[in-house]
Amino acid sequence: MENLLINKCNIIIRRNLESNFIFKKNYGELALDEKAYFVSRRYREAVVLFVKRMKDVKPRFYFKNLEKNIEILRIKNKLFLVNSIGNYNCIDNVISMVLKHCFSSIYHELMHMASFYLTDDGIYMIGFRQFRPFLLDIGGGLNEGYTELLTERYFFDQGVDYTYKCLVNFAKDIESIVGKDKMEELYFNSDLYNLKEDIIKDCSEEEFMQFLNDSDWFLVKGKNYDFSELIERAQRMGNFVYLTYLKRQNRLFLDDEISVDEYENRLAETITKIDKLYFDFDGKVFWKCNKKKMSEELLKIGIEVSGFEDEILEDDKTMVKKN
Ligand SMILES: [Zn+2]
Repeated sequence: MENLLINKCNIIIRRNLESNFIFKKNYGELALDEKAYFVSRRYREAVVLFVKRMKDVKPRFYFKNLEKNIEILRIKNKLFLVNSIGNYNCIDNVISMVLKHCFSSIYHELMHMASFYLTDDGIYMIGFRQFRPFLLDIGGGLNEGYTELLTERYFFDQGVDYTYKCLVNFAKDIESIVGKDKMEELYFNSDLYNLKEDIIKDCSEEEFMQFLNDSDWFLVKGKNYDFSELIERAQRMGNFVYLTYLKRQNRLFLDDEISVDEYENRLAETITKIDKLYFDFDGKVFWKCNKKKMSEELLKIGIEVSGFEDEILEDDKTMVKKN
């Protein structure tokens, strides 16, 4: 009789807690992978894979945000979200998903969760975005681009969506200035400030802030844009990222941090890239850099580029190339 009771009790506990390892520890003492297991029944596989893979591919990552946020993370299903298949609400630490099998965007939303913390003075730091309701909202465009870039980099085999295409490309350009490891570390530490400090070694603070502002415009405007404004902003962003990249290589060479061969290779590669670089928006194509202005700027740092002209000029104002 006694034995039977003990067995029954064991069975009930097993069923409720689903796994044996919880007997050994309190929830707070669980390892990150173990916590991931308890976040959501429906998205369990995805959350566990996310944590496991991020830890495997990047042991150097600081996971302090991920550790903290995963404990109170909830994942909900919604019938629909306007213009979106997923959303991360940092205020409540809730991910909303449109369809239960829509796994492609869950990894993007989990990136947001893993890179978020709230400062003591009430600023929401989400990757490279800094947000305070009604007062401050900056870096959202760069943040979405980089979040998607990381999702595609680490979860490409899970069916990613390839959203925010133009912002992904600009985020990639910024990463090539800063370096991959450093940029990833800054992202997971929600450190826009030190990203700025790194970038402004080779440009002015105003230029960097303008770049953030232009990126935010691309995120917020969506389809309701003025095309000439779009060209102006995209070309300013293109000029900014490539000029800053080239200035950095120039400085690294002068400081003996890269060899003359490396410097010349990077220079030649970038100039060729800029020359062929299109910007595609809604099927309309134009040059991503204002090459005339670019060659003038390059001359100032002693780099002379011949034949670097804006080639397609359908009219003076737009430089639009039709498909
Ligand atoms: Zn997002």
